[in-house]
Amino acid sequence: MNTSALPIQMRGAPDIIRLHGHRGARGVLPENTLIGFRNTFEIGVRAVEIDIMITADGVPVLTHNPSLMAAATRGPDGRWLERDSKPVVQMSHDELQQFDVGGLRDGTAYAARYPDQAFLSGIKIPDLAQLVNMVLEPEFADVWLNIEIKSNPDHPDEAPTLPRLVAPVLAVINAAGIADRVLLQSFDWRVLTEIARQAPHIPRSYLTYETRKHPTMAVNVIDGSPWMDGASLAAHNGSIPQVVSNLGGAVWSPYFKDITAKALAEAQALGLVVNVWTVNERADINRMIDLGVDGIITDYPARAQRCLLAKGLSWHEDVTPMPR
Ligand code: MG
Repeated sequence: MNTSALPIQMRGAPDIIRLHGHRGARGVLPENTLIGFRNTFEIGVRAVEIDIMITADGVPVLTHNPSLMAAATRGPDGRWLERDSKPVVQMSHDELQQFDVGGLRDGTAYAARYPDQAFLSGIKIPDLAQLVNMVLEPEFADVWLNIEIKSNPDHPDEAPTLPRLVAPVLAVINAAGIADRVLLQSFDWRVLTEIARQAPHIPRSYLTYETRKHPTMAVNVIDGSPWMDGASLAAHNGSIPQVVSNLGGAVWSPYFKDITAKALAEAQALGLVVNVWTVNERADINRMIDLGVDGIITDYPARAQRCLLAKGLSWHEDVTPMPR
């Protein structure tokens, strides 16, 4: 992938940092739902970050965890799940439609993290085709999708084999003719290798989470990690940007607490676009803006809009900051 082929709307520009609504706008609306995506587009943000799992009958659906979270899911009887559901990969698309993912269960740790999230009922897990249909609406002609394909090399039972994980996603994209409006990302770089094989023309984003004292999820970039698909940091002077560039990545997407000015400069000098995740607090958003990343993935896209405008910056060519 030559990054010059990356569509202009996916790159930063002078005075422009792109905003990606994380899981739609998780801070204010239920995650990975059509209402969350539509709201994000309607406030003028041009990209959403979404998570894909594949059902037992091969349908790409928009949900984050290998199983439906008890804290965010009601069953067909309208009651909260007592524990996480069986794995999504073991459920048919029809079976998944019985669940309501419109709200968070009060009293859970997960609900406490998003106190401002709206509570809705009757909200189904969407499939990728439904979101693609939305972005085909004329008023959304310039929006695009940052699609994360979920896969865990330590738990291969949570997803189909790589070819069958990637192919249905590409089928939906190709059927709609929106290959130039998508970025495909994954923490599991084996998925990205498979995308390069099946669809080398679609830009790929390499997600990273580095070693730290108290990791809250799997660290994926460390030599010998199964997440890196055999790539070696040691062979690239320990430089993640160099590894990503050599793998043909168009985008490097690090955890925002991992990024340094030096690594950002190195990545941008290599022609990589750098999108940081998931930046929610104002101070952190401002720090990323000042650092000069290309894109910010956030649960609070409206908050990030205000941060950009306050600095005389924007997230899209059509939006001009107001004079103070
Ligand atoms: Mg994601």
